[in-house]
Formats: sequence, C-alpha cells, structure tokens
Amino acid sequence: MSFLSQTLARVKPSPTVAVTQLARELAAAGRDIIGLGAGEPDFDTPDNIKAAAIAAIDAGKTKYTAPDGIPELKQAVCDKFARENGLTYAPSQISVSTGGKQVLYNALMATLNPGDEVIIPAPYWVSYPDMVRLGGGEPVIVEGAEAEGFRITADQLEAAITPKTKWFIFNSPSNPTGAGYDRAALKALTEVLMRHPHVWVMSDDMYEHLAYDGFTFVSPAQVEPGLYDRTLTVNGVSKSYAMTGWRIGYAGGPEHLIAAMRKVQGQSTTNPCSISQWAAVEALNGPQDFLAERASVFARRRDMVVARLNGCAGITCAVPEGAFYVYPSVAGCMGKTSPQGTTIDSDEAFCTALLEEEGVAVVFGAAFGLSPHFRVSYAASDAALVDACDRIERFCAGLT
Ligand code: PLP
Repeated sequence: MSFLSQTLARVKPSPTVAVTQLARELAAAGRDIIGLGAGEPDFDTPDNIKAAAIAAIDAGKTKYTAPDGIPELKQAVCDKFARENGLTYAPSQISVSTGGKQVLYNALMATLNPGDEVIIPAPYWVSYPDMVRLGGGEPVIVEGAEAEGFRITADQLEAAITPKTKWFIFNSPSNPTGAGYDRAALKALTEVLMRHPHVWVMSDDMYEHLAYDGFTFVSPAQVEPGLYDRTLTVNGVSKSYAMTGWRIGYAGGPEHLIAAMRKVQGQSTTNPCSISQWAAVEALNGPQDFLAERASVFARRRDMVVARLNGCAGITCAVPEGAFYVYPSVAGCMGKTSPQGTTIDSDEAFCTALLEEEGVAVVFGAAFGLSPHFRVSYAASDAALVDACDRIERFCAGLT
C-alpha cells in the first residue's frame, strides 16, 4: 500500500511554481534569464504598511490571535466591502487567512463531500482544480473561448450545472487571461445561478484593483443581491497592495460558512501572522491613491507587451481588461522547429524551448486548461519586458 494518500495522487504540483523554480536554477547556473512566470507585482509594499508592521512588532503584537482574524482587521474588511463593493457584512461574516489561497482552501475543505462538483471556467488559476480534488470533489471545467474574450456564456454555465454542483468559482479579472466580466456579462451568469438555488458562488476578486481602460469591476453578490446568502466574496492584499509575501487574504460570506472555515483553520494554521494582520489593517484603512497610480503603470506595460507580441510571427494576443497577465495564442507556431531543433508541437514545447534557447520564463497554457497559449506576467520592469519581447520576437522569427 502506498505511503502517500490516494487523495494526493489526484493532485498535480503547481506548474507556475515549477517554471519559476526552473528559471531560478538556470539563473543560478549563470544563464541570463528573464522571469515572467510569477504572479506578483514588482512594486514594493508601500512604506505606511511596512511602518504599521514594525509598530506592531514594537508594541508586542506578536502572539497568537483569534483564528480567523483580529477584530480590527475584520472591521477594516467590512469597511472595505461596504466602501468599494456596496456589500454589507458584519465582522462575524468575515474570515481572514494566510493568503486568499487559504481562504479558498478552507472554504472547499469545509464544504466538499466526495462526488460534489465544482464548476471552474477555463482558462483557470492553476490551484482551483487541484484544491477541489484535494477536498474530494470533482472539477467541472467550462471553456471560455478566445473569441468570447475568454469569458464563459450563460448557456455554457447552465449546461454545466447538475444536481451535484456545489460551487461555481468565478474569477474576474482573471488569472491567467486578464479577462474581466462587466456588469452585463456577469448579470447573464447570475441570472442562471438564480435559477439553481443549490449552487454556491465563490468569487475570487483578487485582481479587483488591477482594471484598465475604464473597466468597472463588479462582484456577483453586488450585481445580484439575491445571491448574497450563498456567495463567498474572496479578496486579499497580495496583488493590490504588493504584499504577496505577507500572506493575508480574506472573505465575506454567510456566518455558518465562515464558522465552518474557522474550524478548518483552527485545526491547521491556527491564525494568519499577527504582524501581517496589522499591516493589512493599514493597507485597507490607509491611503488608497497609489492603487490608481500603479494600475496606470500596469496598463501602459500591458499595451506595450500586447503590441510587441502581436508583432511576433505566429503569435496573436488579445487586450485584456485587467490583472497583470496576457494570454497569447501560439497556434501559428505549431508544427514548426526551433533554432536548436525542438519541434513545437504544444504550448509546453514552445515555452520550454523559449526558456532554454532565449532565457525567457513564461507558463504554458495547458497548465491553465486552454491551449495552445502561454501566460506572460507583465508585473516586471519596463526594461525586462522590452528585453523579453525582443527575445520572443527573435525566437519566433527563427522558427522554421
Ligand atoms: N486567486 C488568484 C486568481 C490568484 O492569482 C492568486 C495568486 O496568484 C490567489 C488567488 C492567491 O493569492 P494569495 O494567496 O497571495 O492571496
């Protein structure tokens, strides 16, 4: 009998972490590598947030806290939801965890039974299907076609719902495509969900503040208040506030679900880092004007990267509404041969050859459930992005 659990055998290691690790190893071996694989802002955490963390250490706020968050942070989260999303939550409806990732994990562990289905639009964030499998559930993948801006349609959602459906995971703007659902597009989905009262909504709003060209972010419970009692609205400070390493995510939802998530957390990590929680209080309550400034930098980079990629032979790249990713197609490169003799028969082959031959690390589309594409994270300096685009252009021009 295997020492490792049968559940773990259903789970893949994160491909984004694997690409980042390979790029690190090549760089350590002296290769000139540009890493565009990781999903984190290249900006630093703002000084006022760092100062709040230092003050928390100095004040001895270094002990265990309530399992799902200090009251001050829960209140700051309630205020944020009211201010930015028009959603009213009481502190007893808030859960704070070690990153948005643990919020999602806790919710799935707290609710899934064997055979429960979870609808996940593709391309998807790599962790959703594997977290569902870890919880004993079955991911049901619904493909958002490139022609539809990588968004799923109401008809597709309707067709995917069965009596076993427990959750619909919604992520806008999306990792990996950057695609965003505006109010009308989201309303079309919430109308379907209103007809199926047994389906709960897990809205991953992590990229809320990274929205461009006047795209207005909206969340499901905001667009359809009728879904409030079966929606978990998930967010975090990692992406918006350049705080990936601090590991703070949060959610608002029905009290009985939040209590169940508290139980999972209480028996796993106990509580998120006390110092990071105080930093997050400052992030949510402090000045917010830098969010728009940083978003305009990201929008400029997005435009540059999209234009450059569309100039590469065999690549086409759509302009996304948000996040800091683009998701170009390499359909035009399939069947070609790289300068060093690799046959490009998949997006994984394209990305591996690009890394080995030109030193650019990106993540292949199969990892996100839609091929042949790759994901570029443009959360990198202008100089690194220009250099990477030069190399991708040269690589594509060399394909025969
Ligand atoms: N959700 C999405 C769509 C993400 O891209 C990420 C991070 O990459 C997360 C959730 C988790 O973020 P964190 O755990 O840092 O809050």
